[in-house]
Amino acid sequence: MAVNKFLNYVNKQLENNRLAHVFLLETNDMNLCYKEVCEVIKSLNCPHNYVDKCKEDCNLCYLIDNESLPSMVKISPDGAFIKKDQVLELKEKLAFRPIYSKYNTYIILEADKLNAQAANTILKFLEEPEENILGFLITTNKENIITTIKSRCQTFSLIYDETFQSDESKIELAKTYLGNVMARKGLIVNKLELDREETLNLFKNMLMLIKDDVIKNDLLEIIPSKKIKIMNLVENLLQKIKYNVNLDMLLDSFYIEVGQILNG
Ligand SMILES: [Zn+2]
Repeated sequence: MAVNKFLNYVNKQLENNRLAHVFLLETNDMNLCYKEVCEVIKSLNCPHNYVDKCKEDCNLCYLIDNESLPSMVKISPDGAFIKKDQVLELKEKLAFRPIYSKYNTYIILEADKLNAQAANTILKFLEEPEENILGFLITTNKENIITTIKSRCQTFSLIYDETFQSDESKIELAKTYLGNVMARKGLIVNKLELDREETLNLFKNMLMLIKDDVIKNDLLEIIPSKKIKIMNLVENLLQKIKYNVNLDMLLDSFYIEVGQILNG
């Protein structure tokens, strides 16, 4: 999964001891944004070193993925609106100190749909922040959030590229392709038979993989500085690919330049 402006941002706040107690996240993709929030909640609460060790055997991260961690509460509109009762219930669930995790967390999906009473109730909650409670309000329509709520939140924008498609098979393709280039399998690997749009997506997925790997360190067995160089190379290629007519040439030069980095 994409890493992750928001995670970096939260980590910075943590380092500076200035972690906000509630975030208002403006996005164009509720699901992706929710996933990013889950990663942040994992990273904040995980008893292990979340990025390295939580793939299979971390109970806490597993519970977060399965939405069954008791100290994490999510609400979304019940019908057209989020109602006061839902907010009251949320507050009740978070009234106790968390047992298994460091923080109690709540997520409000489509926060612009809080009806007036619900908004008032959440407002009181925001006015008396408690140290171990963290909130994430997610919206695709920030204009409809009342100002008094907005002013109490740390606003952050997570707008995703709409032309970017990522699923298992596309990630797998990017992984294989990059693997072949790095294993120096010869220019033959460049015969992709993808059109421009597909190639663009391949490299967007690759960029995501490499960025992920800078943190997780489970894909590329090279030193970090080389990883960053390859990442920059992919970023450059993504710029060029939009207007460069000759895809093959572009891929050939990518192959050659990766070789130079590996040997450098
Ligand atoms: Zn974990």
